Amino acid sequence: LYVDQPLGQGQTVPLDRDHANYLFNVMRMGVGDAVALFNGRDGEWRTEVVQANKRAGVLACQGLSAPQGEVPDLWLIFAPIKKARTDFIVEKAAEMGARRILPVLTEFTNSERVRVDRLQAHCVEAAEQCGGTYVPEVAEPVKLDALLADWDPARQLMFCDESLAGGSSALSGVVAGQPWAILIGPEGGFSEGERKRLRALPFAHPVSLGPRILRADTAAVAAMALWQDCLGD
Ligand code: SAM
Repeated sequence: LYVDQPLGQGQTVPLDRDHANYLFNVMRMGVGDAVALFNGRDGEWRTEVVQANKRAGVLACQGLSAPQGEVPDLWLIFAPIKKARTDFIVEKAAEMGARRILPVLTEFTNSERVRVDRLQAHCVEAAEQCGGTYVPEVAEPVKLDALLADWDPARQLMFCDESLAGGSSALSGVVAGQPWAILIGPEGGFSEGERKRLRALPFAHPVSLGPRILRADTAAVAAMALWQDCLGD
């Protein structure tokens, strides 16, 4: 379970109504049962239920079961698409270990409304689901120009360019161990102007994701898998 509070030896953790309902009504747990808890910062803790009723409860931290792991310094930057597919991208990015998720507004982005709080909640669920101890941060949407104007050149950019479909990936020869970001465009792809600008950046690596033009959500998962294979640990 995820909670947004510090965790440490002897710490007690009050449960909100949703968590209490899940543990005591859905999972049929009670006093004395063990629950694994994490907050995204302090690793995973073994806790015990010390109070339980239908709408509330308390857990007590008994020991660290898994220390906070190192999270690769990988950002996923994507142009928002339809709600369900944006949810999918964020969920999969969290499962695959992205450290930060940034919605970006490009020339052809056709879905600019993004509920960051909702996406952040998906990250928590994804981390709970896959046993991670880290919850990625979802940033507020930003325009591509502003993002690039503020870019730290030490961070390498895997620029997923659909116009290269079928061509070769430029990731060969790239050194691991640096901070990275993956950039995925919107349903309409990148404009010629954006493509020209991105290709001219010294830290950008234009990449093909294979011979077919993938949907943006598929492309995000394929790009993260490719990054993990070539550069991840
Ligand atoms: N119209 C489809 C949709 O509804 O999602 C296709 C979208 S595709 C243009 C969206 C983004 O996925 C592109 O901007 C690019 O970042 C990435 N992408 C898709 N296929 C790719 C490929 N073969 N190589 C590189 N990037 C690709």
